[in-house]
Amino acid sequence: MKIRKIHTVVLGSGAAGLCAAVRLDAEGVDDVAIVTEGLDKGASINTGSDKQTYYKLGLCGATPDSPRALAETYLSAGGADGDIALVEASTSARAFFHLVNLGVPFPSDAFGQYAGYKTDHDPAKRATSCGPYTSREMCQALIREVKRRNIQVYEGETAVKLLALDLETKDGVPRRKITGFISIAQDGEPIVYHVENLVFAVGGPGGLYKRSVYPEVHTGAIGLALEIGAATKGLPESQFGLASFTDITSRTIREETTSRPKEFRWNVSGTFMQVVPKFISTDPDGSNEREFLCEYFDAPSDLFNRVFLKGYQWPFDARKALDGSSFIDLCVFYETEICGRRVFLDFRENPSQFAFEELSDEAREYLTKSGALLNTPFERLHKMNPGAVELYRDWGVDLATEPLEIGVCAQHNNGGLDVDIWWRSTNIEGLYPIGEVAGTHGVARPGGSALNAGQVGAFRAAQKIAQDYKGGFNAREHTLQEAIKLRALAYEELLELIAPVGKLLVLTEYLKSCEIDWRVERDELRTRMSECAGVFRSSSKLSRAVREAREQYRRATQSEFRPDASFDDNSRFPPESVELLRNIQLCVSQIAYLDAVFTAVLSKVGSRGSSLATSPDGRIISSRFPDDWRVQDENESFRDKTLCSYVSNLEDDLTTESFWRPVRSIPEPDDWFENVWRDYREGKIYE
Ligand SMILES: Cc1cc2nc3c(=O)[nH]c(=O)nc-3n(C[C@H](O)[C@H](O)[C@H](O)COP(=O)(O)OP(=O)(O)OC[C@H]3O[C@@H](n4cnc5c(N)ncnc54)[C@H](O)[C@@H]3O)c2cc1C
Repeated sequence: MKIRKIHTVVLGSGAAGLCAAVRLDAEGVDDVAIVTEGLDKGASINTGSDKQTYYKLGLCGATPDSPRALAETYLSAGGADGDIALVEASTSARAFFHLVNLGVPFPSDAFGQYAGYKTDHDPAKRATSCGPYTSREMCQALIREVKRRNIQVYEGETAVKLLALDLETKDGVPRRKITGFISIAQDGEPIVYHVENLVFAVGGPGGLYKRSVYPEVHTGAIGLALEIGAATKGLPESQFGLASFTDITSRTIREETTSRPKEFRWNVSGTFMQVVPKFISTDPDGSNEREFLCEYFDAPSDLFNRVFLKGYQWPFDARKALDGSSFIDLCVFYETEICGRRVFLDFRENPSQFAFEELSDEAREYLTKSGALLNTPFERLHKMNPGAVELYRDWGVDLATEPLEIGVCAQHNNGGLDVDIWWRSTNIEGLYPIGEVAGTHGVARPGGSALNAGQVGAFRAAQKIAQDYKGGFNAREHTLQEAIKLRALAYEELLELIAPVGKLLVLTEYLKSCEIDWRVERDELRTRMSECAGVFRSSSKLSRAVREAREQYRRATQSEFRPDASFDDNSRFPPESVELLRNIQLCVSQIAYLDAVFTAVLSKVGSRGSSLATSPDGRIISSRFPDDWRVQDENESFRDKTLCSYVSNLEDDLTTESFWRPVRSIPEPDDWFENVWRDYREGKIYE
């Protein structure tokens, strides 16, 4: 059996993982490898929007900005830690210019200034973009650099289990040390990695929701870390918004990819909304077309203006649900999820009663300045953003001739694994979660800050690992007992590393013999998440969901079945094992997410971020919506807290422990230069 011993493995090759590998190499850690499902997999290289945003420190003109001001923006919606926000802000310019220097074409003016625009939850025009494919451009530049540096990449492997050793419990929270992981190659060969550090860059929980704009190819793997008890924070804070999903199985696409998705999914933000398209709905078979949105508005001008505003207020926002732009999301949600109809954006015709005079001054001025006072939404879109039109054509969709199906989709999770200011897991030694899998954002985040956070996390993890690497293993402080355990690992640990492989092999053989269809199981799981932990959250649905999720986990693991491990050097996992095992980590994730959402609802946090908590005594949103759509107001006292949780018992019922802790405020460290210099020289900054 292949056992690879590598000092630091970066698991995942999205924008965050690639950057971490580059920075580790740059910092002098030469025993590094990337292990990934594929360089063409993950959200970063497969996703975007009309103008995909990168959020950074302001770098243009006379508008003042500072790390502190940016950190305050990160904290403004609540639920985020000030120390992490300060690091994301202070490292922002460095990470951004790293990308610029690697050739990512962020636009600058003749004087070298990086102008910015305003994005969601942004008071200061800090956003920039290189068009619809910003994160893809980032990945491509970083892949070039990975190759230039000859960093080892193991492609076509899926990690299915993390391996860890118990350490002493601290403050009641279990602590462990990462020792490696098991992956499965495309031909079913198991490979065991034995590592000192694992930079865990596996992306957000893309496989959890049925209505989702995460690319089909991306499921994420946070469940692997949850299985070893990694601490999380902010799991309930997911982001939802309007996105398109088009079945492209029988369409001609411009560039055939190795793994052509069934659906092409894309955010319909920015210009897609600013051109004010017509919203129509149909029966599931496409018949009985209706322009449904106007039924919800007394004045057409109100409708047009709220659609326009959705352009830069993309995510569903509880604060804008009743009388703001997010009301549009609710109308779409009602039409699709409750009435069972399909909703489309139609760019071919204006909405009824459309007239430029009906638009707000802001909307009219925007279209006028853009030279887009044109006859149809399509003409306006083509004028303002031809790239957006081309992008759909690439995937065989012609917006000039056909409407575009949309829904309210899961897009991002602001929470994730809990990390410190060096992006170390707070309870698993040697585990560095970075990118979307790290929970560094609060209740809401400025659009584009996910990409910044991923790069900053990569810089910080690499810097810390490199610092420890220089000191060698002995520089680590352990209790005597831990040190004995860790150093005497050679033979003992080898056995520990290999043992789970046999168990997994036998389990997957058994699951296959039971004819468990992973597709049916996954569909059940995703439907449950979209129904119970999406935009609407009610305690009655959640109490049922957490029970059903556990039943499904037991089914996925056949927990009553305890096989004796038996395998030899030539053992291979049977076909579809990866998907069966992926379902297990998705089940674990589902339980952790549902428990966290349920805890938040029972704690009466109310409606905030991208979700609405319902209760019988809540407020009615609109008389046109069902009576149980009564929403609780936000309980603002929770803005100063974050929900932490971890899976504490994998053996029986997968219990999770959850608790609210106060968020940390923005630190005000001594910034006297001589003192900073001394601490830096003496390595005190790493303590
Ligand atoms: C439609 C859409 C639009 C978005 N727009 C914006 C935006 O404008 N601005 C912004 O800041 N953010 C945006 N985001 C969010 C942002 O794109 C993601 O948060 C970010 O790209 C995640 O990067 P990552 O490196 O953490 O993970 P990913 O890019 O998802 O990479 C994860 C990697 O891990 C690998 N992997 C996963 N599991 C395993 C496993 N078990 N074994 C081996 N490898 C594994 C994957 O193959 C992949 O290589 C958007 C997201 C979506 C879906």
